[in-house]
Parts: sequence; C-alpha cells; structure tokens
Amino acid sequence: MGQWPYASILCCADSRTPPELIFDEGLGRLFVVRVAGNIITPSLLGSLEYISLHSTSRLIMVLGHESCGAVGAAVKAAEHPGPAETPALGDIVNRLMPAVLEAKKTGAQGKELVEAAAKENVRMTVKQIAEESQALGGMQKKGELKIVGAYYSLATGKVDIWT
Ligand SMILES: [Zn+2]
Repeated sequence: MGQWPYASILCCADSRTPPELIFDEGLGRLFVVRVAGNIITPSLLGSLEYISLHSTSRLIMVLGHESCGAVGAAVKAAEHPGPAETPALGDIVNRLMPAVLEAKKTGAQGKELVEAAAKENVRMTVKQIAEESQALGGMQKKGELKIVGAYYSLATGKVDIWT
C-alpha cells in the first residue's frame, strides 16, 4: 500500500547507530539512507530526492555520531597521506577530507579532532544536500522541507539536533 514516512535520515552504516532503534520507530516511519561516514554521493542524494518528491517525508536529518570509524580513517589519512587501502575506501575518505581539514583549523587533535571532524561533516553534508540538489534546495526555500544536522552520542544515547 506504499510508504508514508515522516522523515528521512542520512546516517552512518555503523552497527551501533540504527535510526529505527535510536528513535524507537517501527516499519514505514523513517526513510533511512545509510553509508559509512554519512557522506553524500549522487545516488544517495537521489534516494533523498525520491522520497522527498514522491512521498510524505518533509524532514531530512543528517545524523553523525561519536567515535565514527570512517571519520577516524579520514583523520588518519590526513595525518599520514598515502594510497588508500582500496579505491572504494579512498572514495569515502576523500569525501570526508574537507570536513577533516576544516576541523584541523580548530587545533584539535586525536579523539577531539575526530569528533570535531564528524560534526563538521554533518554541517557540510546538510549544506551540500541543499546546494547540490536543486529539487531539495528549492523545497527548502519554499518552506516545504527542513534539512537539519544531528549528532548521536554512543555513550549516552542522546541525540543533539541542530536546527
Ligand atoms: Zn560512523
């Protein structure tokens, strides 16, 4: 009979961050797009466009999380440049790199740098969605769609939502 989710969530593939469990939601309520490092690529953007244009979802949440392994790998790659383990892993790291370089400007290091980069990646991805998709950017301008960033703490289970 179709699907009528009220929100879309772009989040990490990390096994500790399933949005349906985090937000205690059942089948049909959330349209979830998951990829290591909650980056955006054309296919993922297309997934968000599909549900925003053709169904009921009027909110897109980019959900980053604490201790993200993908962001950690990008931080390592920034500190020790060299060839990626595989081309596909390199693609993820490259898409996270602008956020790592921006976070490095704060002077943060180690675990703090990983957290700062993960938060920066959420902020950049929120912007990218509106800028790279004319359809979604247009809906946002008309007030038909809200795009927000959020950050999940593995330790506390708390989600901070940035509006
Ligand atoms: Zn992650």
